[in-house]
Formats: sequence, C-alpha cells, structure tokens
Amino acid sequence: MDKNVLYRSIPKVDILLEKDEIKAVISEYGHEIVMDIIREETDRLRLLIAEADSETGLKSKIDNLTDTIVNEVKNLFKPKVRKVINGTGTILHTNLGRAPITRTQAELLKDIVCGYSNLEYNLELGKRGERYSHFEKLLCRITGAEAAMVVNNNAAAVMLILSTMAKGGEVVVSRGELIEIGGKFRIPDVMEQSGAKLVEIGTTNKTHLSDYEEAVTEDTKAFLKVHTSNYSIVGFTQSVTASELKPLAEDKGLPIIEDLGSGVLIDLAKFGLTHEPTVQEAIEAGVDVVCFSGDKLLGGPQAGIIIGKKKYINMMKKNQLTRALRVDKFTVTALELVLLSYLNEEKAISEIPVLKMISETYDSVKERAGRLADIIRDKCKHAEITIEDCESQVGGGSLPLERIKSVSVVIKPKNISVTSLEEIMHHSRPAIVARTAEDAIWMDVRTLLDEDFETIGSLFGGVL
Ligand SMILES: *Cc1c(COP(=O)(O)O)cnc(C)c1O
Repeated sequence: MDKNVLYRSIPKVDILLEKDEIKAVISEYGHEIVMDIIREETDRLRLLIAEADSETGLKSKIDNLTDTIVNEVKNLFKPKVRKVINGTGTILHTNLGRAPITRTQAELLKDIVCGYSNLEYNLELGKRGERYSHFEKLLCRITGAEAAMVVNNNAAAVMLILSTMAKGGEVVVSRGELIEIGGKFRIPDVMEQSGAKLVEIGTTNKTHLSDYEEAVTEDTKAFLKVHTSNYSIVGFTQSVTASELKPLAEDKGLPIIEDLGSGVLIDLAKFGLTHEPTVQEAIEAGVDVVCFSGDKLLGGPQAGIIIGKKKYINMMKKNQLTRALRVDKFTVTALELVLLSYLNEEKAISEIPVLKMISETYDSVKERAGRLADIIRDKCKHAEITIEDCESQVGGGSLPLERIKSVSVVIKPKNISVTSLEEIMHHSRPAIVARTAEDAIWMDVRTLLDEDFETIGSLFGGVL
C-alpha cells in the first residue's frame, strides 16, 4: 500500500467546492459551516489512512467523500433531541423524558414562551412579582399546605431544604431510607453537599421511634423521612411513619422533612395499584416540609416541588441557592397548567397522560392494540403481526413491584432480522423504542398514543 498515493487521491478543497452537490449545501446552509465539515471530513480521511494497515475500504471512503460531506452537513442541521414513540410499556421512562404533557397544554405553553409573560411581574400592582406566585395558591389548595415553591428538580429540592434548614447541624434519618435513586443520586451524598451532617439510626429493616429519640442532640436540626419509592423491603420490617414521629418532633421542637419522591396527588388504589403515600397525607400527618418531583406521578414538567409551613418556605425563597436552582418560564407555565387539572380529580385522571396511562383498563388497551395491529398488518407484507398480553411498569423509580396487565402488538419480521428492524426504528423520525423478545418487536400499547398509530403503521410499512 502506497499511503502517499492515497493521500494524494483525496480531492482538494477547491475541487470539492466546484461540485454541484457541495454548491447546493453551501447555498442552503452557508459557506463557513460547509467549509468546517469539508476540513473535518478530509482530516478524518487522512487520519484513517495514517492508521490503516491495508487499503480495504479506504478507496471507497475517498470516492464517497462528497456524499459524506453533504450528509454530515444535513445531519448537523437536524435537531438531535427528537420525538420518540414509547413502546416500552414503562410509563415514566426517565431516559425517554418521563411525563408527557397534553397538546392543549403545549398550545397554551407555546403562547407564553413565544413571547413575553408576567413570569415575574405583578400586573395588578404594576411592579415586580414572584415567579412562584402563579401556582403557589393552587398547590396549597390541592395539597392543604400553607406555602409552596418550586426548583429545578426534586434532587435540587432536597438539597435546598437541607441547606436551608440543617446546614452545620445534624439531620436524623433511618438507615432503611438512605436510598440511591437513578444517576448515582444518593441521599447521604446530597446531605453532605448541603452542609448537613447525617445521623443514621436503626438498621436496614427496622427503625423504632426510640431510635429517633435517642439520636437527638443539641445539634439536631430536623428529622428527615425519605419515601423508599424505588425499592421495597419486605418481611421482618418496622419503620416509623411521619404521624408517629410527629409528637416526638413537637416535643423536641424539631421539624419533620419528607422527601416523597414521586409525589402522587391521587390515591392510586383507585386503579387497583398499591396505595402510594400521597402528598396530602404527608401534610395531614403534620410534616413541616414535603418535596416531590413534578415529572413523576404528578405528570407534569421536570421540577422539584417544595410545600409546607410558611416559615420554612420563606426561608428557602431567601436562600441564595434558590437563585441557582430556579425554574424557567417553560416549567412555571407547564406546571401551572397541569396543576389546574388537579382542581377536579376526574378531570386530572382523564386529561393527564401519565394518569390516563396508569388507569387505562386492560380491555381498552386491548381494543387499541387490535386497531394498531390492523393498521400495521394493512401496510406490511413481510411480517407476522399478532397481539399478546404483557405487563407495563410505572417506572421512574415509582411503584417498583407493580405490574399492570397490558397488551402488546408483536411484530415478527420475515424479510430482515429483528436487530436490523430495531436499528431502523431508532433512526426513523420519529424514532420508535420498544422491547425485543422471542425474535420479535413488542410494542406495549399502554404507552402509545392513538395519534401516533398511523405514523407507526407507515414506518413499518416502509420496511416490512
Ligand atoms: C426520584 C426521586 C428523587 C429525585 O427526583 P428528581 O426529580 O428526579 O430529581 C429524590 N428522592 C426520591 C425519593 C425520589 O424517588
């Protein structure tokens, strides 16, 4: 192999610039960016040649240089955050963006974010307002709390609460509640970051009220309860509920903080699921400060919602950290819209996508699965399409043991492998993410929206 010959066969920049395809992308996307890509791609070829042991594949890469440049330029201008059709059956899929909001909400959101808003402006008084004011009363009405505020996510909420209420002091937590949630977010690490000292009590499976009592020193600033939303300890267990802890807390003059995680506002037992402690129950039990996520079971945008006693919420609003953790107009607007649905529980269940998906009956999913299977069957000659029972999950670290009976459309391709089909699904726009099992693609219909059925059909129709 003569590497010098290969280097010389890479077209020079002025030759490339003469090509019609390159001229076309320059006129569409601009000279400078195309020049950047030309440089990057020719450099990449040189590097490939330098590192190559044989000529195999190099010649065709050189011959295809123009196409590669054109494709790279076009790709560069396509947004990388893309719509994904969720066929996994996991309702709160953190990797797929957790809770979807409705089109109606998105339309209203568009109005606000495409222009200016009263985000921090009090229109009645004609002066500066507070960004939390838009939903504070609403949150208080729904949850029974005295005051409320919102930060970027629940991890930030935990940090802000501890930093405000316990910095330089001790916080008592049960060992059974020292959890790690996704992304290496560990309660003990967050406490360290916040400047509060963790005092662990009890054992993994058992913590008694007397453990809390014995741990109190003059440095104790609060009791912290963490809802173990993403795992479950069963068998010989004992924990102390917030209402059991309340008399001791009052006696010692200490606040109770509770990180509820998923923050459900409606009793899920209604849908045949295990009862998850609701936000209202925590407030009723006398918890002083409660925090939870906006995009888990609440079904709204990513946010960390903090509610509780006015005196503590006011302290948090004044904490410098709040400025660093503050939510923007997208979050404020979407959150208010979702919370408005909760003024009427039935409305919430019928409107909020996450609650709709959780509460949809097996029969209804099956009917929709039948419809989707017909649409796909109509368009695909080279696949076997059936519907099969499966199990959906709530996900997002919520209700880890819960499985909801559901139905999948199962696609067995005959002309290509399941792996190739999956690759095509991931590269399509919108992309489709589903499960593969038994040499087939399984699309759990519980997490699919009717409005996507035709798109799904066309996509498979174009391949199978
Ligand atoms: C999910 C969860 C968090 C983190 O919430 P994010 O909104 O994802 O930051 C914190 N604590 C508990 C108990 C959780 O379940």
